[in-house]
Amino acid sequence: MAWFLNFYKCDRCRRRWTDEWSCTCDDECPHCGARDMTPIRSEDLTELIEEEGSEFVVMRSPDTAEHDPDYEEIGRFPTRAQAEEFLASTEQD
Ligand SMILES: [Zn+2]
Repeated sequence: MAWFLNFYKCDRCRRRWTDEWSCTCDDECPHCGARDMTPIRSEDLTELIEEEGSEFVVMRSPDTAEHDPDYEEIGRFPTRAQAEEFLASTEQD
């Protein structure tokens, strides 16, 4: 499933926070409790590349994930460029 890191800014108290969620949904301000704040920006974290020692691991949040990303390793590469190439070749939309 898709997984997002949402960036919020509160209209009422002007503070900022981030939240990870399975959609780009509205959130409640953790500082003053104002509701229905819309993300000002969202980063798609459905697919990630993580550096692990000397390797680059490609992770994807599977369709079965619901309340957390539950990442699965889908590939391992010696360079970031190869990992990005692999991700680009598996884009599915
Ligand atoms: Zn607030």
